[in-house]
Amino acid sequence: MRYRTFPKINEQTSLLGMGCMRLPLGEDESVDAAKSIALIRGAIDAGVNYVDTAYTYHKGDSERVVGQALKDGYREKVLLADKMPVWLAKDKEDIRRMFDTQLERLEVDRIDMYLVHNVSAPLWKRAKKLEVLPFLEEMRAQGKIRYIGFSFHDTFECFQEVVDAYDWDFCQIQLNYMDQYFQAGVKGLEYAASKGLGVVIMESLKGGRLVAAIPPSVQKIFDACPIKKSPAEWAFKWLANRPEVTLMLSGMGRESELKQNIEILSKEDVAELTAEEAALIDQVAEEYNRLIPYPCTACQYCMPCPQKLEIYKIINYYNDWNVYEQNPNTAFEYINWMAKHGSDCVGCGACLEKCPQHLNIPETMGKAAETFGV
Ligand code: SF4
Ligand code: SF4
Repeated sequence: MRYRTFPKINEQTSLLGMGCMRLPLGEDESVDAAKSIALIRGAIDAGVNYVDTAYTYHKGDSERVVGQALKDGYREKVLLADKMPVWLAKDKEDIRRMFDTQLERLEVDRIDMYLVHNVSAPLWKRAKKLEVLPFLEEMRAQGKIRYIGFSFHDTFECFQEVVDAYDWDFCQIQLNYMDQYFQAGVKGLEYAASKGLGVVIMESLKGGRLVAAIPPSVQKIFDACPIKKSPAEWAFKWLANRPEVTLMLSGMGRESELKQNIEILSKEDVAELTAEEAALIDQVAEEYNRLIPYPCTACQYCMPCPQKLEIYKIINYYNDWNVYEQNPNTAFEYINWMAKHGSDCVGCGACLEKCPQHLNIPETMGKAAETFGV
């Protein structure tokens, strides 16, 4: 396993982090505790020393299972990361209550890496109103948290504002070769690193979409290349090649995924990318982009929607569904992670005039609703 160091806090971690948002499920669709514990411990035994969970993953079962997995001497071997879902809090008391619940579920008295979860412009406003950071500092002073960070899903401009607003220890952004210009993107990665922040990458494999069913035209490009690597290795190499990346999370739900990822991220040359290899990835990204039905740039000029739809995210899920060969993770995330769906669009047209790409937004909302059933 390759290791890197979080710059500001000087903690050395494996390049691969164990993401616990897609744990193995049993027949009744609930988390299979035995399999999940074996998977998490297997990762730690192979050298992974960063385990990431959240209050909302698997409705709390992710935290419970992580707590079980970290018994028997495993807790001391890892940095444990967890997150505060500010959007679920009505008041400051809720923040305190959720934090206590997390310690209870995890059965620990300290969380190493603590993140304000899912920061966007409205959530950031709410976090300030509910004085989340002073609360986290209080928890840090009591030894219940070691380092404070945030995970992010909004524009680069918003990212810059959040980075500059507080003396963060680290941050977490979505990045892969298909999301270079999406949300914080490469610009955000470089900005955070320039401020001394360690950067944890989520969606390294775009929720598995870059490695599952590869569209035939993309496969043709891989096949024509004399350098043979798996799609996962290409995706990880592209990220590892950037020194600003401290750690890459992968939400692994199967032994085979874990084995493959460990193998890739243990290679000595994982961070090396020749010009020829970079050109291949560019070509693959270009082909994926060509397959996108609605070229939304996520500029958010269409916002706010009176019905509170996060238009660009919905379009992004609809595009992903079509580009990445109907990957089930796309439907899962759309249905479970979005507060409002395409079916909530009332067709008022308030967004139409504002889109510089001249996208028929109500039409895309309808298509998303038809595709995902909501
Ligand atoms: S048409 Fe739909 S998406 Fe556009 S502003 Fe109205 S409700 Fe929102
Ligand atoms: S204005 Fe158009 S391109 Fe920009 S986020 Fe909205 S739909 Fe996408």
